[in-house]
Amino acid sequence: MPSTLHRRQWLKQTSLAAFGLGYSFTSMGNEEGITRNFGSEKDLINLGSNENPYGISPKAKQAIIDMISQANRYQWNVSTLQDYRKQLAEKFGLTEDNVLISAGSGEGLGLLARYFNKGNIVTANPTFGILPNTAKRLGTAVKEIPLTPDKVHDLPAMLNAITNETSLVYIVNPANPTGTILSPAALKDFCVEASKKAVVLIDEAYIDFIDPPNNQSMLSLIAANDKIIVMRTFSKIHGMAGLRIGFIAAHPSLIQKLEGANFSSTGFCVNNLALAAAMESLNDEQHRKSCKQKNETARNYTLNELTKLKYRCIPSSTNFLFFNLKDYPGDFAQDMLKKNVLLRSNQYSDGKWGRVSIGTIEEMQQFIRLMQQV
Ligand code: PLP
Repeated sequence: MPSTLHRRQWLKQTSLAAFGLGYSFTSMGNEEGITRNFGSEKDLINLGSNENPYGISPKAKQAIIDMISQANRYQWNVSTLQDYRKQLAEKFGLTEDNVLISAGSGEGLGLLARYFNKGNIVTANPTFGILPNTAKRLGTAVKEIPLTPDKVHDLPAMLNAITNETSLVYIVNPANPTGTILSPAALKDFCVEASKKAVVLIDEAYIDFIDPPNNQSMLSLIAANDKIIVMRTFSKIHGMAGLRIGFIAAHPSLIQKLEGANFSSTGFCVNNLALAAAMESLNDEQHRKSCKQKNETARNYTLNELTKLKYRCIPSSTNFLFFNLKDYPGDFAQDMLKKNVLLRSNQYSDGKWGRVSIGTIEEMQQFIRLMQQV
């Protein structure tokens, strides 16, 4: 545990990173800044934060029930959690000195923006907001490279943008808010090239939704390359967004540097229930398979129906869909909220786009009924 002063400073920084970014309701990829006073949750169809509508695995639920009697104990006083870092790392074929666990990957993104605060950061536009927005607040230059017309990361342009002053390159694969993926071979080549000049962070929040053979993780690169970071969360396929747990994985030398700096308290801030649930969730492949399959059915339905209504939809490898709002006259997200559907929309250089999370099939049917009236 850090000293009181350190902890106070650290808390101040972290809460600034998480809550002080002034996100607008309609912006995308900034889940933690969403307006909270949208009224009763009853009857609201929440398709705004790419959550898993099917909930956590029954095994994870049981693990929480079993752990609750130890909620009065710090994690290091609970025998089954003492080596949680090792246990979690091993589930991914890693060792404990490869990982740093945090209270959600969003916490890690804010801290990485604080750590890599020199020179510039290269990322895509649009992309998930926490890291670039925190960096901008800190005064770090952020080079935002537009996605291709197909809404895919423009790897050659990103490579070109990297200079000797670049400290970090941030890529979300699959991408948020667009749901597109990069081929594993192209991404690997990019990581190897880009990491000659800067640290490369690959955020794999939605990787479990990708179909093989494109679902290859960049985790395989970290053993031989000390300038690559891979980030994972339990908030998506594992359905644990409210429990707050995620991790970064990297070469031990990089992990050591991050842990020695502003990641020193992250492990302490992950709670016993989240840790126990995460371990058991990893043992429940059946739950993940079933969530992925139901998501795919509901996503295909939504894509087909939106396409019938003449909306251009970007093919998605995630639990959300990005679609062009044509000449929609007003604020689409606000208008949908009035009809009890929470989603995102935003104006980009090439027009207005919406992002809808994939809920249950019944929720998507209701969404489509509303879209038929637009
Ligand atoms: N990374 C991406 C790409 C996301 O879309 C999200 C959440 O939506 C996160 C990270 C943060 O997830 P969490 O903080 O819940 O782990």
